[in-house]
Amino acid sequence: MNYIKQSAIREGKSKILYSTQSPEYIIQFFKDDATAFNALKKGTIKNKGPINNQVSSSLFKYLEKNAIKTHFVKQLSSREMLVTKLEIIPVEVVIRNRAAGSICKRLAIEKGELFQPELIEFFYKSDALGDPLIGESHILHFKWATLEELNKMVTTTRKVNRLLIDIFNEIGLELIDFKLEFGRDTNGVIILADEFTADGCRLWDRKTGESMDKDRFRQDLGHVDEAYLEVSKRLQNYFEARA
Ligand code: UDP
Repeated sequence: MNYIKQSAIREGKSKILYSTQSPEYIIQFFKDDATAFNALKKGTIKNKGPINNQVSSSLFKYLEKNAIKTHFVKQLSSREMLVTKLEIIPVEVVIRNRAAGSICKRLAIEKGELFQPELIEFFYKSDALGDPLIGESHILHFKWATLEELNKMVTTTRKVNRLLIDIFNEIGLELIDFKLEFGRDTNGVIILADEFTADGCRLWDRKTGESMDKDRFRQDLGHVDEAYLEVSKRLQNYFEARA
């Protein structure tokens, strides 16, 4: 079937979601817009939309091959991805292999501190509240997810971490942390949603230690679009060599 965009359901900071002629599927359209610090900093990153669509599509395909259920169906065009329509759980799951970003400020710890085992944190998805840090009991009390669903989200996040640490290592990048979002399908199954891109993770070049992710935009480090492109090229080469 040829899925085409109908009306916009929701416009977020980096993507627009469109309905299709099927109630089962929606289209994620990747924009070049970038925001940071709860949208206080705004800008664009050249060609980020197509790069993020490509990166996320190839990583979701890889995760699917490794028994992780994702909402990815197929890439429709350079900026469009067909995905399964889900009921999104309003919780961001963050996993940290090393300290960077908000945790350094919050707990006054040095950037780069190793976490073994990896740290898991939850944030409530609310732009109005600035995505506050929450605990397991908040998720259960407000019925954002059941304990079983929450456990599934955490075990899936740990599994994604193990799989992707290895891939990024192979292409000379260290996976420092990342954020995942999940949803329920019509059968109530927990599915990995949203995207996996340099917008939602931290990647440090293993040789130079340089950030190859959205921190280049957040901190005005320059060469932002080059870093996004470099990550996507390295990943593409990795997957092409194994196709
Ligand atoms: N992250 C994200 N969206 C958010 C908040 C965080 O994708 O709304 C990602 C971020 O890119 C990083 C990880 O989650 O890879 C941990 O982010 P942190 O809590 O350090 O927040 P930051 O201060 O970087 O926004």
